[in-house]
Amino acid sequence: MKVFVVYWHPEPQSFNAAMFRTACEMLAEAGHEVKTSDLHEMHFDPVSSRNNFRSVKDPDYLKLQLEEMHATGIKGFSAEIEAEMEKLEWCELMIWQFPLWWFGLPAVLKGWVDRVFAMGRVYGGGRIYETGVFRGKRALLSLTTGGPEEAYRKGAFNGDITAILRPIHRGMLQFVGFDILAPQIVYGPIRLTDEQRKQHLASYAKRLQEIAHESPIDVGIY
Ligand code: FAD
Repeated sequence: MKVFVVYWHPEPQSFNAAMFRTACEMLAEAGHEVKTSDLHEMHFDPVSSRNNFRSVKDPDYLKLQLEEMHATGIKGFSAEIEAEMEKLEWCELMIWQFPLWWFGLPAVLKGWVDRVFAMGRVYGGGRIYETGVFRGKRALLSLTTGGPEEAYRKGAFNGDITAILRPIHRGMLQFVGFDILAPQIVYGPIRLTDEQRKQHLASYAKRLQEIAHESPIDVGIY
């Protein structure tokens, strides 16, 4: 299987970094082809702008989706965006590794989505959800939190983690056609013992060995 791992964390010694390395090593060991985007190491610019394109159709007024459709037609995306799009198109499974920040994606990963999920190339023209460009591909969110698991249950003060992840699952990944695998969540790694953290890495590695056979989950339409 072709697997694309997109990862962002500002600290290479973080637990997220350990999750990222575990995934890359285990997937390769299991015989999968792996490509990565380590957005921090790449100094990926998360700000969507004219820099998304080699040239623009309208230099006087930046209308991103119109420029995205134009760039789709003329192969006009900038080299850094084109490289990300090619990895996205190449993969059969995409994994995003990140710490939950403000109940969402950290800014650089969100900016990666803003810039790479471009109208015309990645969605649009009736190609959304079940008719999305990437139907048949699967996506997995692998994340960590600061809060403990009991804070992320229905009725708890943070509320149900499924509802928190829904804008990502439904609004980004399913929107462009991906099927969704159950998220891999390590709640509050800083609260755990070293041994417990190592167990989480081992159980993630074990899961990844069989990931090709996993079925998607239903994220619901509310
Ligand atoms: P780290 O602190 O890097 O790691 C935890 C521990 O694991 C460390 O002791 C580290 O040394 C150790 N470790 C590293 N590698 C290994 C290894 N190989 N084996 C064993 N141990 C290892 N939390 C929420 O719950 N909800 C929010 O909305 C939220 N918003 C945030 C917004 C911001 C701006 C910030 C900065 C934080 C926010 N947080 C939130 C907290 C954040 O989600 C957590 O701090 C983060 O997910 C923890 O993951 P980490 O990789 O940074 O952990």
